[in-house]
Amino acid sequence: MPPKKSNRNNCEDCKKEVGSDDKALVCCVCEKWHHINCQHVPMDDYKFLTKSDDSIQWYCKSCRGASQKLLKMLTLVSKRQDQLEEEVKKYTVD
Ligand SMILES: [Zn+2]
Ligand SMILES: [Zn+2]
Repeated sequence: MPPKKSNRNNCEDCKKEVGSDDKALVCCVCEKWHHINCQHVPMDDYKFLTKSDDSIQWYCKSCRGASQKLLKMLTLVSKRQDQLEEEVKKYTVD
């Protein structure tokens, strides 16, 4: 029996099946399929993404938003840590 992996790929946005003729991309974060129409990906972008090797990463809209939030959070945290280290230095000097 073949492994029960991705039996059928459905678009995460419209929940419809992604056929072999459909233009769709896989998000590298959630690893879900998305029709380019559902994600409003320009045809030029789609051509570029599919022409190049798979080292090019594509993020769906929701993951792009999430990763940006995460990035902001991370910079905030590292900033806070820097401040904390400065504070610690102040008190540890001497
Ligand atoms: Zn769709
Ligand atoms: Zn995604």
